[in-house]
Amino acid sequence: MSTRIVCCEQTGCTTSGHITAVGVGSDPAAANSRMTVSEVYRAMDRGERFYTEDQFGNRAAVHKYNCPCGRGSLRSAPDCTRWNNLDSLRICSWRAA
Ligand SMILES: [Zn+2]
Repeated sequence: MSTRIVCCEQTGCTTSGHITAVGVGSDPAAANSRMTVSEVYRAMDRGERFYTEDQFGNRAAVHKYNCPCGRGSLRSAPDCTRWNNLDSLRICSWRAA
């Protein structure tokens, strides 16, 4: 089971940004549902995989990341491109919707 991450919510706790929640779904323009980082962790523990995909169809795996601030976060695999890196995803727009 693979789930595509299409947007993310971040705080500015580190220079790279700390992801606190993500939007998942098949349409990059509109997430189907919101998952907090702990929900993603639980899904990963059940064997679910998460990835990002750029406009060319290149996928990058998403992994757990232990942020220096002490709270769990998420990070793209080192082989990600500049386009499918988690940091280059758009910011979720739940509040604006
Ligand atoms: Zn952090």
